[in-house]
Amino acid sequence: MQRIHANLMIPGRGAPVSDAVVLLDGPTIAYAGPAAEAPVAGDAEEVRAEVVMPGLWDCHVHLLGQLVPDLAMLPREPVALRAARGVAGLRAALDAGVTSIRELGGLGLDMTAAVAEGTVPGPAIHAAGAAISPTGGHVDLHSYPLPWVHDYGAASNELRVADGESGCARVVREQLRRNAKVIKICASGGVMSEVDHPIHQQFTAAELRVLVEVAGLAERAVAAHCHGKPGMIAALEAGVRTIEHGTYLDEECAAAMRETSAILVPTQFVIASAVADIDRLPPYARPKMLAVVERHAEAVALAHQTGVTVAMGTDIGAGDWGRHGEELTLLVKAGFTPLEAIETATANAPATLGPQAPRSGRLEAGYDADLLILDDNPLDDIAVLADPARIRQVWQAGRRVKPV
Ligand SMILES: [Zn+2]
Repeated sequence: MQRIHANLMIPGRGAPVSDAVVLLDGPTIAYAGPAAEAPVAGDAEEVRAEVVMPGLWDCHVHLLGQLVPDLAMLPREPVALRAARGVAGLRAALDAGVTSIRELGGLGLDMTAAVAEGTVPGPAIHAAGAAISPTGGHVDLHSYPLPWVHDYGAASNELRVADGESGCARVVREQLRRNAKVIKICASGGVMSEVDHPIHQQFTAAELRVLVEVAGLAERAVAAHCHGKPGMIAALEAGVRTIEHGTYLDEECAAAMRETSAILVPTQFVIASAVADIDRLPPYARPKMLAVVERHAEAVALAHQTGVTVAMGTDIGAGDWGRHGEELTLLVKAGFTPLEAIETATANAPATLGPQAPRSGRLEAGYDADLLILDDNPLDDIAVLADPARIRQVWQAGRRVKPV
């Protein structure tokens, strides 16, 4: 047993607690609360901390192992090479305080076991397998012959194209067959795809219903990539659990999200970092990225003002692993208090997995013993969480994983 005695505990949900104790019993929290009420644990190892808080979740990443963001390059780099880079990315995320990721299209499903069995240090992976779009959609590789895209998709299972109700049902079942914990679909066009437009809806209402229905039969939530409003409304009507990006969210979309208890996973980091180094993107993506940057920030502010539940995601996929906490500074810029921003990356996050949510993201008895120890208070300065050097200790499943 470990007894972490902190001057300040940020529990994930609810108000901070001064002079607090978190008691770890193996991989689970046995007690978290005021030190004065903590049970006696005479033989527990005592750890002193200034601040203790839950480990962070990044609810939108891609273990693609690319050095530059360009989906058309995926077939040209061997999976083993990209997985090796993914291993380094996982370590960087853990050192940045990320103890869980939701991986929405990439190699995550194949790498889950490597982390779970302890071979590779990294955040716990909750993976979708392939991201799914229709022909010509966001994860189609438009410049290649279509039969090649089908072959490549079936072989590497990171990106899949599916059309029609039976085609959509089949591809979802193929992800379930590989034990995907969440299903990722594209309800609108994208920025990092060549021909399609971020505002246009992609799957039809009937296709969306089938995607959600088949996922739901296996108690899986659906995450919908979505920039434009038509796709957002259609996806919410079909019953998706999360809207990813949500760039053109307006009052009507916000009302639909509240009504369906859907969660918004905005991804300001990927857009901000892309705009900061725009020449890194393929030429077709540059004007699209510049068109969404301001609108996306407005959508995040509106979501906050209108009471939409938000969970933190970065969309980190190529390089940039370890920079997850920068999303929190962007949320604060959009109007979240530091405490609210932390809640998006802790207590709010597991619910993005719907029925597959683990008991994680909170310092509370019965929850997973994933936590961070800090010297500085992120409620005074959220940038503490954006700097891996200031994440003093990381504990995962009751074991200290930083420093090792
Ligand atoms: Zn993404």
